[in-house]
Amino acid sequence: MSVGKRALVTGGAGFLGSHLCERLLAEGYEVVCLDNLLTGDAKNVLHLQADDRFTFHKADVTEPLNEDVTPDIIFHLASLASPVHYSTYPIETLRVGSLGADNVLELARRGGATVVFSSTSEVYGDPEINPQPESYWGNVNPVGPRSMYDEAKRYSEALAVAFYRHYGVDVRLARIFNTYGSRMRLDDGRVLPNFMVQALTGKPLTVYGDGSQTRSLCFVDDLVEGLLRAAHWQSKLTKGQPQTGEPLIVNLGNPDEATVLQLAQEIIAVTGSDSTIDYKPLPGDDPQVRCPDITRAKKILGWEPKVPRSEGLRRVVPYFKEALARGS
Ligand code: UDP
Repeated sequence: MSVGKRALVTGGAGFLGSHLCERLLAEGYEVVCLDNLLTGDAKNVLHLQADDRFTFHKADVTEPLNEDVTPDIIFHLASLASPVHYSTYPIETLRVGSLGADNVLELARRGGATVVFSSTSEVYGDPEINPQPESYWGNVNPVGPRSMYDEAKRYSEALAVAFYRHYGVDVRLARIFNTYGSRMRLDDGRVLPNFMVQALTGKPLTVYGDGSQTRSLCFVDDLVEGLLRAAHWQSKLTKGQPQTGEPLIVNLGNPDEATVLQLAQEIIAVTGSDSTIDYKPLPGDDPQVRCPDITRAKKILGWEPKVPRSEGLRRVVPYFKEALARGS
């Protein structure tokens, strides 16, 4: 069942966005994909172009949006997401989290669209509690090396909640934890693509710090299912009327927590690599632990991840092999 039939996906040519576009088409939606291709890649959605229900616009969500686009639902995914990318493009990251979020919310306000708003586990910063429930306010350095991303997302959450309360815009905030799958860039810089590329090319795996920090990795298909369920959730809000309380705010991630060192060992094993491990300095403000409490997602959306890491890693190896062979 779909909420409305026309979806706008900002950041739709990115890793996660392209998987979402594919799934939305399969669910019967008409899909407008918007991406400025800063880290997204038009090739990620090339195979969708033959479908006349799919349109791609190369556009920047921080610029005024095309008024002709009248979606029923907006999946707002546009953002730099890798620490390497967002620290390379700090101003763009802050602008997409502020101006971009504003443009999307205004479009929703004018047209009455529902918004599934991608937020992040980074709103919890370097958490003092583990796992992190949605009620946790976080431990964020507002001027640290990750601040351009963390604070942009925290601001955009505040803006989305203000649009919900003040204008009655139907927003659902999805706090997305580390996710992996095909179409991640080889030069993405995040842990999974780095380790896959290093393992498959026989180079040492670069473990930052002593590798005892933890992450919880979610397979992309599970994450997309969570976004769909957030979209289809029945809100009690009356659109256009001021609201009290909070919109739906929900963690989406796989709670199977692992240390980075464990992940390196698993990737060496799944690729059959004879790579060694090379310990490198830990970047500043790197969270020591991260694991989603998904009690709310289970209860409200009936969602939990289905693909265990052992299977997800196995499924993603062929993609990295092919991408390396293509040199892209
Ligand atoms: N990491 C690592 N080696 C790499 C890339 C990342 O050890 O080549 C570590 C990084 O320090 C962090 C974790 O892996 O502790 C996850 O990093 P990633 O960049 O994927 O995203 P984050 O979860 O930090 O946003």
